Amino acid sequence: MGATPSVESAARGAKSQAALEFLKSGPKKLLIGGKWVAAKSGKTFETLNPANEEVLCLVAEGDKADVDEAVKHARKAFEEGKWATMGPHQRTRYLLKIADLIEKHAEELAELETLDNGKPIFESKNIDIPGAAETFRYYAGWSSKIYGDTNPSDPGMFNFTLREPVGVCGQIIPWNFPLLMAAWKIAPALACGNVVILKPAEQTPLTALRLGELILESGLPESVVQIITGFGPGAGSSIAEHPDIDKVAFTGSTEVGKLILKASTGNLKRVSLELGGKSPNIIFPDADMQSAVFGSMLGIFMNQGQVCCAGSRVFVQESMYDQFTDSLAQMAQSLTLGNPLETGTRMGPLVSKEQHERVLGYLEIGKKEGAKAKVGGEAGNQERGYFVKPTVFTDVKNSMKIAREEIFGPVAAAIPFKDENDAVFQGNDTTYGLAAAVWTRDISRAHKIARALKAGTVWINCYGMIDPMSPFGGYKQSGFGRELGKYAIDLYTQIKSVYTKL
Ligand code: NAP
Ligand code: MG
Repeated sequence: MGATPSVESAARGAKSQAALEFLKSGPKKLLIGGKWVAAKSGKTFETLNPANEEVLCLVAEGDKADVDEAVKHARKAFEEGKWATMGPHQRTRYLLKIADLIEKHAEELAELETLDNGKPIFESKNIDIPGAAETFRYYAGWSSKIYGDTNPSDPGMFNFTLREPVGVCGQIIPWNFPLLMAAWKIAPALACGNVVILKPAEQTPLTALRLGELILESGLPESVVQIITGFGPGAGSSIAEHPDIDKVAFTGSTEVGKLILKASTGNLKRVSLELGGKSPNIIFPDADMQSAVFGSMLGIFMNQGQVCCAGSRVFVQESMYDQFTDSLAQMAQSLTLGNPLETGTRMGPLVSKEQHERVLGYLEIGKKEGAKAKVGGEAGNQERGYFVKPTVFTDVKNSMKIAREEIFGPVAAAIPFKDENDAVFQGNDTTYGLAAAVWTRDISRAHKIARALKAGTVWINCYGMIDPMSPFGGYKQSGFGRELGKYAIDLYTQIKSVYTKL
C-alpha cells in the first residue's frame, strides 16, 4: 500500500466522474459545527476497496476530543438553534430535500457504496440508495404527524401530553448497508426534532460523508447533523459514554451492543439496539418450490450474506431435504462472483480482510463439525480481494457452531426437520430473534408458525422484504427498540404530561 492512494487504480472500473472526484478530493474530514475539519489529533486511516485491497481514500480518525467538540455544538444547536423549534412543515421540506439530493446523486452514491463495501452495483443501485431516499421521504411526512393526547382528566383539570424530541442522539452504524443505515438513523431522529452525531463504520465511511455534504447543500441548520469517522474504541465508545448525549442508537454485533448498554449507565441515556441474528428460514413440502429456492438464495446470499436478518439457517422438511438443497446449491453456483462494479455480478467480495478470515474460519469449523459443503466451502479464485464462494452446508445439526453463531457471510446451514412442531422448536432454539421465514401454501399453518416464531419480523412465502413503513428490530439478544414505521417515533421522542387547573 503506497502512502499516496491512487484513486485511478483503486477505483478502476468506476464510471461516475463525481465518485472519482469525491475520492480524489483529498483526505476526508469530520463534519463538526457545520464545517469539515481534520481530527484534532491529525490522525487519518485508510478505507479500502475490498475487491482489490487498494486504498480508496484517507479518512479522519476522530476520537474523544472530536466527539466532545461535536457534542458542544450539538447541545447548542438543540437548546438554542432553529431546529427543535422549527415548524413541522418546514422540517418536512428539509427531509424531502435530502431525499431528492440522494436521488439526484444516486449513481455516484451507488458507485461509492460498491467501491467501499464490495456489494454488487446491482444491489447498491436497486436497494441501498433508493432505500435511503425512501426512508428520508417516509419520515419527512412524519414531522407533521407526531401527536400528543388529550386525557380524560377531572372537570377541574385539563391534562394533555406533548411528544418532544429526546435531544442529542449518538448513532453508531455498521458497514453492511452504510448509507441505508445512516438514513434509518438520521431520518426519524430529524423528523422528531433531534440533533444527531453519526459514527459510520471504519470499513465504509464514504457514503455517509457524501451524505454529509448533501445535507449541508440542503441548508439544514448548522450542527443538526454531525459526522465523526473513526474507530469503535475511540469515536464509538466516546459517544456511548458521553455524559451529554441523551440517546444512543446502535446497529452492529451483539457483543458491541452489550458494551454500548454498559457505557450508557453513566448518564442513563436512552439506548436502542439492532443486533445480530441467526434467522430460521423454514420450508415445507407444500411450498411453491421455485420461489422457495429463489427466496432462500436471496435470503442468505444477498450482500454476500452480510445481513443481520439473513436466512442463515435453512430448515427443510426431511422428505425433500436432498432435493431442495440440490436446487439451492445449483442456484448458488449460478451466481456470478466477481467485480462488484459490473452490472451482471451478483456477489462481490466480503467487506474486509478480517471478515474474510472470520468467514473462512467458520467454513473450516463447519467441515470439522461434520457438515458437508454441497457447493462452495472455500475462498473465491480471484487473485485479489476478499471473495468467498457461496456455500451451502448440508448434514448440519442445529447444535453445531455454524448453526448457532452469526457467520455474516455467504454460508447457508441446511438443517432437516420432521414436522411443524419440530420446525418451530428448532427455529426458536437460538439466542437470537431478529427475523424468520416460512414457505408453505397452507395459510393456516403459515399464520400459526408466524405467531409461534420468536422474531421481530416474519416473512411468509418471501424473504427480506423491508419497507420504511414497517417496524424492524429484534427479540431476545437481537436487541430492543423498533426502527422504521411509527415505532421509530417512540425511539426519538419523549412524552410530557401537562396539567392545567381550570
Ligand atoms: P461491530 O464492531 O459491532 O461494529 C458496528 C459499529 O460499532 C461500528 O461503527 C464500530 O466501529 C462500532 N463499535 C465497535 N466497537 C465499539 C465500541 N466499543 N463502542 C462503540 N462503538 C463500537 O461489528 P464488526 O466488528 O464490524 O463486525 C463483527 C460482527 O458483527 C460481524 O461478523 C457480524 O456478525 C456482526 N455485525 C452485525 C451487524 C448487524 O447489522 N446486526 C452489522 C455488522 C456486523 P468500527 O467499525 O469503526 O470499529
Ligand atoms: Mg472500504
